[in-house]
Amino acid sequence: MKHLLLGNEAIAYGALSAGVAVAAGYPGTPSSEIIETLLEFKDRKVYWASNEKTAVELAYGAALAGARALAAMKHVGLNVAADPFHSAAYTGVVGGLLIVTADDPHMWSSQNEQDTRWYGLQSYIPVLEPSEPQEAFKMAKDGLALSESLEHPVLLRSTTRVSHVRAPVVVEPPAPPKFGKFSRDVERYVLVPQNARRRRADVLRKWELLKDFSARFMSVEGEGDVTVVASGVGYLYAVEALERLGVKARIVKIGMSVPLSKKVVDVVTDEVVVVEEGDPVVETQLRVMGIKTKGKIDGFFPQSGELSLRAVVEGLSKALGLGVKLADPAKPTLQPPPRPPYLCPGCPHMGTFYALKLAGAGQKVVWSGDIGCYTLGINTGQQDLATHMGSSIGLGMGIALSDREKLVVATIGDSTFYHAALPQLIDLKTKKIPLVLVVMDNEYTAMTGGQPSPSRAVPAERLMEAIGIKHYVIDPVDVKRSVEVAKRAIAEAKSGEPVALISRRPCVLEALRAARRSGFKPPKYYVVSDRCRSCGICYNLLKCYAITKLPDGKAWIDPSLCNGCSMCAQVCPYDAIKPAEPDKVSKWLELWSQA
Ligand code: SF4
Ligand code: SF4
Repeated sequence: MKHLLLGNEAIAYGALSAGVAVAAGYPGTPSSEIIETLLEFKDRKVYWASNEKTAVELAYGAALAGARALAAMKHVGLNVAADPFHSAAYTGVVGGLLIVTADDPHMWSSQNEQDTRWYGLQSYIPVLEPSEPQEAFKMAKDGLALSESLEHPVLLRSTTRVSHVRAPVVVEPPAPPKFGKFSRDVERYVLVPQNARRRRADVLRKWELLKDFSARFMSVEGEGDVTVVASGVGYLYAVEALERLGVKARIVKIGMSVPLSKKVVDVVTDEVVVVEEGDPVVETQLRVMGIKTKGKIDGFFPQSGELSLRAVVEGLSKALGLGVKLADPAKPTLQPPPRPPYLCPGCPHMGTFYALKLAGAGQKVVWSGDIGCYTLGINTGQQDLATHMGSSIGLGMGIALSDREKLVVATIGDSTFYHAALPQLIDLKTKKIPLVLVVMDNEYTAMTGGQPSPSRAVPAERLMEAIGIKHYVIDPVDVKRSVEVAKRAIAEAKSGEPVALISRRPCVLEALRAARRSGFKPPKYYVVSDRCRSCGICYNLLKCYAITKLPDGKAWIDPSLCNGCSMCAQVCPYDAIKPAEPDKVSKWLELWSQA
């Protein structure tokens, strides 16, 4: 039966048709819909894990016990899971283990553009690379079967365009979940050096086997003097670009890009053009086999960003000496206005940043940020660095140790806190690093679509208590108290101890969804123009996106954007901001806190 599916949904349905029983993942664009889809199937064990390492371990353990299991994440997540990922190749598995990563070329929502396929080469784990949703379905299914038959993990690498395109997919019904039973095998599962050395030989043996298996995922189509080798979404671009250029070519479609089939030398001519998204992974392997290539290495196709039809048409034209240069696309007559990064109107993080800004005024502060929606604090000038999950505390500790003149305020969201900061809390305490740690707890993994956060079951303050880190809990919508407590925390950290501030209020978007469901409309706020003295505190310091500076410097609130948080009314020193429906204010704040 055909369904219109996202590539990610197709991956989930492919795994279901292979009888996946256990699945875990950590949300991250562009991968989140894989676990979201699997969560609908209550006869399986499916979880959001606290991070990608835990997700891979959960699936890996299940596969050791003979189950068919899947772990899903975005590309950078595999860095977090790299330890168990590499070990899984050494122990192998008993059931099937499919690890799915969605790469994000052009960094639409990521801090780097790394190509996961290198991990396949490094860890001796084969990589399947679908080019569209139907193939994603098939490869997820085949990947689990292949993993089980070879007793070896398999990596499925998608990219944004494959994960997020919607296309008709022929779906087979889910197969019953395949759980298993663990059998003891110490020599295989305990990777002490003497066992690991034996296992290494087994890994290499399987790798050779995989080079033969890889041919099953390779196909040759078309005829012509030119040969194009293409993988992933690059295959679709290559087909269309050749058609547009009117070039007849043989296309070697690579489905398993790592390891490349040895048989590729039987089907390619002396020189090939290689079209692939990401790094030159297929091209590098072809060169190792002694095949001359024109691809990314010599600059025929761009090495950064996503592939596009334009890039592939021009790259092929250059490689084939056709001299085709596409005309620059016409510029639209109307340009959208620039939209600087802003937190959502009423976002609790807006109140937290405001309180911290006031509390830190006049002091030398390093704002050590992290990855999540609160990275948008860049707009308030309160993000001096944000490099990876957990960087706020990790790098912040190093800065605090080396620059004694400045105070480090490390801001981290709740999901990132549980994902990447717990071991660092131990270091913070044992090394007595004077730093203010701010856990911005909006009780959801908000940036990736509102997945549940562990903060409700394991509140951050309980962890602080257990470790012995002094801490305070604030509600950022209570602006006055938040500023007072933040000042106290900063003063205490300056006296030489780490202090934590847990700022808790649910994501306003989740609260709005709950309000909509219950038929409640949050109050809107407005500016009493006569009272406004154009001081700019609401639009310059609080920086609510719903508030605009008028030509005379007075503030104006766009009622279509206002989410009724009340923070602007609290910060206005001239009492110029009022709720249009005052009787709704406390009910809304109460409903919101329960979202
Ligand atoms: S804080 Fe009050 S007085 Fe100042 S610009 Fe905003 S509305 Fe006007
Ligand atoms: S109440 Fe004020 S601060 Fe809150 S969303 Fe509306 S305009 Fe923005």
